[in-house]
Parts: sequence; C-alpha cells; structure tokens
Amino acid sequence: MGPSTRGGPMSLTTTRIPGFRGRLIAANDDDYDRARAVWNGSVDRRPGLIGRCSDTNDVATAVRFARAHELEIAVRGGGHNVSGTAMCDDGIVIDLAPMRDVWVDPAKRIAYVQGGALWCDVDQATQTYGLATTGGIVSHTGVGGLSLGGGIGWLMRKHGLTVDNLVAAEVVTAGGEIIRASATDHPDLFWALRGGGGNFGIVTSFRFALHPVGPTVLAGPVFWAAEDTTDVLRFYRDFLTDVPDELGNIVRLGTIPPLPAISPELHFRTAIAVASCYAGPVRYGERLVRALREFGTPLVDLVAPTSYVDHQASIDDTVPHGWHYYWKATDLTALSDEVIGIVAEHAYRATSPRSYVAMFHLGGAVGRAPSDATAYNGRDVDHNIVIDAAWLPEQDETVAATETAWAREFLDALQGHRAGVYVNFLDSDDNASRVHDAYGDNTYDRLADIKATYDPENVFHHNKNIQPVHARPAPGLEPLRP
Ligand SMILES: Cc1cc2nc3c(=O)[nH]c(=O)nc-3n(C[C@H](O)[C@H](O)[C@H](O)COP(=O)(O)OP(=O)(O)OC[C@H]3O[C@@H](n4cnc5c(N)ncnc54)[C@H](O)[C@@H]3O)c2cc1C
Repeated sequence: MGPSTRGGPMSLTTTRIPGFRGRLIAANDDDYDRARAVWNGSVDRRPGLIGRCSDTNDVATAVRFARAHELEIAVRGGGHNVSGTAMCDDGIVIDLAPMRDVWVDPAKRIAYVQGGALWCDVDQATQTYGLATTGGIVSHTGVGGLSLGGGIGWLMRKHGLTVDNLVAAEVVTAGGEIIRASATDHPDLFWALRGGGGNFGIVTSFRFALHPVGPTVLAGPVFWAAEDTTDVLRFYRDFLTDVPDELGNIVRLGTIPPLPAISPELHFRTAIAVASCYAGPVRYGERLVRALREFGTPLVDLVAPTSYVDHQASIDDTVPHGWHYYWKATDLTALSDEVIGIVAEHAYRATSPRSYVAMFHLGGAVGRAPSDATAYNGRDVDHNIVIDAAWLPEQDETVAATETAWAREFLDALQGHRAGVYVNFLDSDDNASRVHDAYGDNTYDRLADIKATYDPENVFHHNKNIQPVHARPAPGLEPLRP
C-alpha cells in the first residue's frame, strides 16, 4: 500500500483486509457496478473497495484498516440519500447492507435493529407483534441514515420522530472502537446521534422503543384535479387545526402515479393528493377523515383499512432505485395563503411526469419535545416541503437541466417563507451553509464540539458534514493505534 494524503485520490492495491470476514468487492469484480449503485441513479462514484460487513467486528476492522492506510471512508446504510454520500471515489465504502437483522422484545416493546436494515425489515418484524416505531414512508429506505438525521413519518405526531424513539446505539468510532451510546453511556454522543447524521461514528445496532400500532390502520390518499390545488390546500390547512396526533398527513403534488389501484385513464394526470394514516382505531379514523374525503370533487379516493406494513410500502414503486433524482427542500414558516399560491403556481411546472412535491405535516409529539432534546432542529415548524425532480436514466441532459431548474426556481420562489431544512432532504449541491441552516447556531455549535471529541480529524466527512471545532480526546476512548 503506497502512501496517500486523506482528501486526495488514493488507489487500493489490495483486496484483502486482515480479519475482515465479510465480502470485499473491487473494480475488477463482476458485481462492482451493482455494489456501487445507490438509490439515486445519477450518483456515479467509484470506490477503491466496497467492504460488505457481516458484523460489528467487520465494521471496526474496516475502519482501522482505512485509518491505517489513510483511505477515504464512506458509510452505506440503505443507500437512499439523494446526495449519494454512501459512496466515495477511491477509498473504501463500509457497506452495512448485509447487516439487516431485527430482533423484537415484545414484552419490553423494544426492537434491536442492525445498522444496514431497511424500514421494511423493521416494520415486518415489529408488526408481527402489533408494534411499530416511527419510520420512513418508503419501505426500501435505510434505517441508518434516516434515523441519524431525525426520522419523519406517518407516526411522528403520535410517537415522535425516529430519534425520539432511539434508546441506545452500538457505535464504531473513528478510532475503530466499539462503544455504546445511550442516556447513561456517552450521553453527549447519544444526543449528537439523534439528528447529527453519520458524523460521529458508524452505528451497527439501534435500539428503538416500540408502540402498539395497527396491524390495521385507516390509510391512503385522496386525489383532486390540479386546478383545485388552492382550494384543497386552504381546506387542508383548516382541517389540520384540531386533528389528533394519531392522524399523519402528507400532501403530494405532481402527476397521478400509475399504480394498479388507480384506473389507467387517471394515470399521469396532474393532481394534488392528501394522503393520511390514522394510527388508532379504524372507526375513529373514518369519522375523522370524512370531511377530507367529502371535500370538493375527488378524482379518486383510496382511503381504506389496510395493514400498516402494506401502507408503509404503498408508494415504494413511485420512487424506484435507479431513476435520476434531484431534491430541493425547506421547512416552511407557515402554510399561509401566499405559500399556497406559490406551491400551486410552481408544483405542476415540472416537465417530467415522475417529478413531484411532498409536504409533511409535523407538529404533535414532534413539536412538544424540547427543542434541545435531540440534535434535530425543526420542531417548531408545522410543515416542510421537498421538491423532488425525477427523470429516467436514459433521458438526455436537457431533461436533467429542465427538472433541476424547476426544483431550484421553486425553492427560490419560497424565499421569505423558509425556516430551516431537514438535513436528510439536502442534496449534493446544498453547501455547508445549508447544513448549518439544518441545525441553527446553537445545535450546530454543540454538534461541532461533540464532533471534536469523537471525530477530531473528521474521518467521517462523506455526509452532511459538521466541522469539528477543535480536537479534544474523548473520555474513555483510546487514541487510534493502527
Ligand atoms: C424514496 C425516499 C423516501 C424517503 N422518505 C423519508 C421519510 O419518510 N422520512 C425521513 O425522515 N426521510 C426520508 N427520506 C430521506 C432519508 O432519511 C435519507 O435519504 C437517509 O439518508 C436514508 O438513509 P440510508 O441509510 O438509506 O442512507 P445512505 O445513503 O445509506 O446513507 C446516508 C448517510 O447516512 C450515514 N449513515 C447511514 N447509515 C449509517 C449508519 N448505520 N451509521 C452511521 N452513519 C450512517 C452516512 O453518513 C451516509 O453517508 C427518504 C429518502 C428517499 C430516497
């Protein structure tokens, strides 16, 4: 292995890591291209080595090897981050994909989830016992990245963010040590893990609190014609004023996806949808969402009792792996008439029928937790918006440029109505100041301080990076000895 400088290109001359028991994949392996592909097909990075870890020891071994050889490190959970930080050029990808086991203790209402699990793994395992925790709304999203950034989903208003349900984590540090973070073990690290992303270590196992949910919930979208957008959003805003925490809502604007449950003549027609999930008895949910379903003239109403597991997977096919994606996002100060006007004006200007916009309704338990309870910073807003440009890989650069411009112009139009931003919705061209926006001054400074303790050399920087303020040895952590 030749010398290298971290931050500069480094080529690997070995495909062996002593003590590593998982699979190592290099550029000359047949499945290299498959292994380096992430959800966003526009990400095209070429790592020197991909280490598919079989357990925590493999993760620690790979970190120590990478440090000893001054290799760039990227960490792959579910591979869903739109900005593709799960992959690096050159260096090594520490890939947790084989580590997807979930163990449930129904008596204690706890799930132990390996760091490479997807939300489908968690939902299926926990729903066996009629339990769940707040997860993402697409079941092929990774638990790792989503949980470390905050975790918003259908259950958050009732049960809090994913980070609010994190009880403990097993972490491989930048020095290759295995430690535990919880309210009593490395509490500063535990605080930072709950919103600060992959900056502080590699989480090989999450321990989540679970709650009774379903297994049948009342859920699904109601679609109205795009021309009704302003009226629907104004109605929606009023409807939300006194909805209980059990009701989760997401607005989707774009074209109607060609799902089997929707009649073909409606496919790709521009429309606004309000999708709901009532995490309580179905009969209460039916009473509650009646007003929504009876508003105006819906094009199609798919609200029905459904299994929570099926609901969690219901939009999976609308955002498949391999399409090209570009996102712009912001938290909104309010769903004012002005914001509604901007949304109605810009949402349907995308030319790709695959592009869409999603607005999450927050509040409830998210807003009731103290703002400094975790490192997630958007608890004081009720709505956020993510503008999702999407097109096919075979489409040419003009389509990419048009869709990208649409997303940027839409975000620009919201200037003046923007609060912070959810860190997990930032794309690769969102710079350090937007990462700062995701946290605000106080949280960012506290994270930078903790980063200096646990990763003073910024080994974990293929992420939405927190810069360490100044290096300080972590209490109880051995310095790295390669
Ligand atoms: C289709 C889709 C739907 C989404 N829906 C939601 C949603 O409903 N709610 C929501 O909150 N977010 C949602 N997101 C955003 C999601 O939270 C982020 O994309 C998140 O990064 C995905 O996690 P991942 O493990 O798949 O990411 P990856 O791309 O694998 O990882 C992203 C980064 O996270 C870090 N990381 C990942 N795993 C670990 C680990 N085990 N230990 C340490 N660091 C790790 C690394 O820094 C890595 O660079 C969605 C994204 C997509 C693409």
